Amino acid sequence: MAVRPYDSTVEDTVGEVLELVKGVVGEDWVTDDPAITIGYSKDNSFEAAKKPHIVALPENTEQVQEIVRIAGRYGMAVQPASAAINCAGGCIPQRGGILLDLRRMDKILEIDEENMTITMQPAVRFGVAQNMLRKQGLYAVNPSGPHTAGVATNHMDKGIGMPANKFGVGPDHIVSMTFVMPDGEILKTGSSALPGAEKVCVEGPGPDISGLFHSSMGIFGVMVEMITQVYEWPNVEVLKVAQFESEDLNRVSDFFYEVTREDFVNECSHLQDSYFSWFATEDDEVGAGIVEYIPRNNAIVIMGGENEEEVHLKEEQFLRLVERNGFELMDDSIVDMLSDMIGDICYECKVLQSTMRVTRFFGSFQVVWFNTSLDRVSDLHKKYQRLADKHFKDADWRKWQDTYPPQEVTVYTQPLEFGRSVMLELDFFISFDDSESVKRGLAFGYDAINMVLDDGGFFDRPYGGSGSFNFGTLQTPRLGTYSELLGELKADIDPRNIMAPGRLNLPVEGA
Ligand SMILES: Cc1cc2nc3c(=O)[nH]c(=O)nc-3n(C[C@H](O)[C@H](O)[C@H](O)COP(=O)(O)OP(=O)(O)OC[C@H]3O[C@@H](n4cnc5c(N)ncnc54)[C@H](O)[C@@H]3O)c2cc1C
Repeated sequence: MAVRPYDSTVEDTVGEVLELVKGVVGEDWVTDDPAITIGYSKDNSFEAAKKPHIVALPENTEQVQEIVRIAGRYGMAVQPASAAINCAGGCIPQRGGILLDLRRMDKILEIDEENMTITMQPAVRFGVAQNMLRKQGLYAVNPSGPHTAGVATNHMDKGIGMPANKFGVGPDHIVSMTFVMPDGEILKTGSSALPGAEKVCVEGPGPDISGLFHSSMGIFGVMVEMITQVYEWPNVEVLKVAQFESEDLNRVSDFFYEVTREDFVNECSHLQDSYFSWFATEDDEVGAGIVEYIPRNNAIVIMGGENEEEVHLKEEQFLRLVERNGFELMDDSIVDMLSDMIGDICYECKVLQSTMRVTRFFGSFQVVWFNTSLDRVSDLHKKYQRLADKHFKDADWRKWQDTYPPQEVTVYTQPLEFGRSVMLELDFFISFDDSESVKRGLAFGYDAINMVLDDGGFFDRPYGGSGSFNFGTLQTPRLGTYSELLGELKADIDPRNIMAPGRLNLPVEGA
């Protein structure tokens, strides 16, 4: 059995559904005004634009349940959006329907200092959570992204950031989730399924079904609450950067194999020069101004501990690795200069304010990120670079934007799981204002994603769907029995296919 086809005749019932949803959330919190719905139809990705018919903003779980039940009665699509900055088309309603904008569900319900958890609604953002948690000496593992990303959605979405080497990726922090299922019923995962046992066991009992909801892009229901683990904010922290000019990324991998296995750093990542400049600064001008001081390759680490002495020992260990690998240490004066510009860098790495990386995101920045192993980084980067040359070298790119040539791919390497695996992000710059730029970008993206899939890369966030363009569009059909089983589960759990229909490019019955 595959996913049931989505019934597109629901267009005729939009007026009726709108009235019913008004009865649930009140007049002010639902609309079909195209001036508003169009704002939900597009983001900066290559995903095709699609307007929802209705936008609804529920304020609690009961309202979400009611809306999902109404949608179920009419067979109308429901697309959840929480922080809605996933930068990959994840919240674009591929079949229209009801866009469930959950931004009003942004409450932190509990910070449990003793058991180190936070309980929250889906639209709590990192900036808010980190600042609340810090008051208790705690922090949530954040992505290498903006403070406006959602904590629960990022964790559910396999979020990856600088602490991923030590503390894992998004789902590793999830203790339990509460979902409104496609029939409006409530599902709690882990020991939360048993009243009174909320936080004691992440998995099961028996086969663990919570994995079904990780990176599920809304296809199995609406997450309305999450409990996640948080970690102790170290008393003392220091940031160091090891650098080298060579283009040889195998050396970066070798260095990280050692750093990660010796297990003395809390956070680490590798950024190339232009990436580093816009990671660490707030606007183009300042970023462009510091690129010349930044070496080609930078391994950034944060070491933390109880006291100065512990951190000093770790620093010495790091220095030994730097010397052994023929790297150099970034001059403290440059680290100080960055501190002058952006404040406490260790804090910034955990909270990441609106850096240029974010402002660029609203312009022309395209991301291709995937999991692979450290020993494949160099080879994949070379192949990706060759493709970028093919697609952009003869382009008159200064018509689109004037800072970063699109063929100058810039690299972010994020070690995971003690270096067993890595997230490799390779970015390029186009502009949606210029049709040639978009055409070239689409052709490049298509070739690059297929190249990654042919060469041992894996997209753990399967954005995209049928009739659109993204990682999941191209990857899911290659997954054989896995995607067939996923399709069958979707058909069983959501027989009318109302939850985020079209997403993931799952096999559709009769198609
Ligand atoms: C410039 C930039 C850089 C970034 N860098 C990184 C990085 O290095 N590492 C990293 O991990 N992240 C990074 N992020 C953040 C990351 O992309 C998002 O946190 C993540 O994709 C989740 O998106 P969101 O929090 O905005 O949630 P949303 O965009 O609201 O949702 C993400 C997906 O989950 C689904 N969804 C949303 N809410 C619900 C719900 N309540 N129930 C069920 N499904 C739901 C949506 O349909 C969508 O498909 C970056 C973001 C930006 C803008």
